Amino acid sequence: MRAYSSHKELLKSIEQGLCVGLVPTMGSLHEGHMSLIEKACSENDKVIVSIYVNPTQFNDKADLKKYPRNINEDLKKLDRFKNIIVYTPKNNDLYKKNENSKQYDFGDFTSLMEGKFRPGHFNGVATIIEKLFKIFTPNNAYFGEKDFQQLLLIKTLTEQLDINTKVVGCKTIREADGLAMSSRNKLMSNNEREVAKEIIKLLLRAKEMYPEFEFYQIRKEIENRSKSINNFKLEYFEIMNLAKFSNISKKNHETRAFIACKIGKIRLIDNIKL
Ligand code: AMP
Repeated sequence: MRAYSSHKELLKSIEQGLCVGLVPTMGSLHEGHMSLIEKACSENDKVIVSIYVNPTQFNDKADLKKYPRNINEDLKKLDRFKNIIVYTPKNNDLYKKNENSKQYDFGDFTSLMEGKFRPGHFNGVATIIEKLFKIFTPNNAYFGEKDFQQLLLIKTLTEQLDINTKVVGCKTIREADGLAMSSRNKLMSNNEREVAKEIIKLLLRAKEMYPEFEFYQIRKEIENRSKSINNFKLEYFEIMNLAKFSNISKKNHETRAFIACKIGKIRLIDNIKL
């Protein structure tokens, strides 16, 4: 494992002609990230793992400030991978002074759910991923289904900009009690962590009701149940047929349930296939 904070230096270290995989992360690495890195290592000659908390995708500046950062621990966790190169840039390696997000139009699906509740978030994500794809021109790039809307967004981005990188979606890795792993889980108190177990229970209840009940009936049931959970604020619960949801998923006929909530001050998202 080698680490670089300059993309120019990193690029010099990669021999020509290799199959390169990219795993973009914001660090505070957990088993979810590791599963992406393992898959990338099994499918590429070299894997670049970026660790960068991208400021332009945070619509809430307090959230950006408290986002967990553990670069030394992250590097220790990555030490076991022999074929990876870690990219740990500072802002000025990627952004010009005062540079903001680029404005994109990816269609209606980006104004729903995360797009609706985090205005500007997807423009920030697309801005950083476009930069990383253009700098490293990876053959493959790996993203988690945990952030399903983001995965569809990146696929749309590569199609719209004619970028020659294959976007690979990877299964959500969960804790033993079903909570989707997330860097934000570390920010919760023990009590909040107990409450977080309810997220997967709500999603599984939706799965139980589908397809016997109508979407609106399932949504009502989940909204009602969530009201009875202490210290739990539902932001949205949605059921989406992917074929109707976005152009890039129009051949995918699966239906998924999506949830976002706040437990105390911590915002968590999850989704499952119904
Ligand atoms: P983040 O560091 O949260 O930006 O995540 C970096 C990548 O890891 C994104 O593609 C996420 O979707 C993915 N990821 C985060 N949590 C998980 C998880 N529990 N299982 C699988 N992938 C994940």
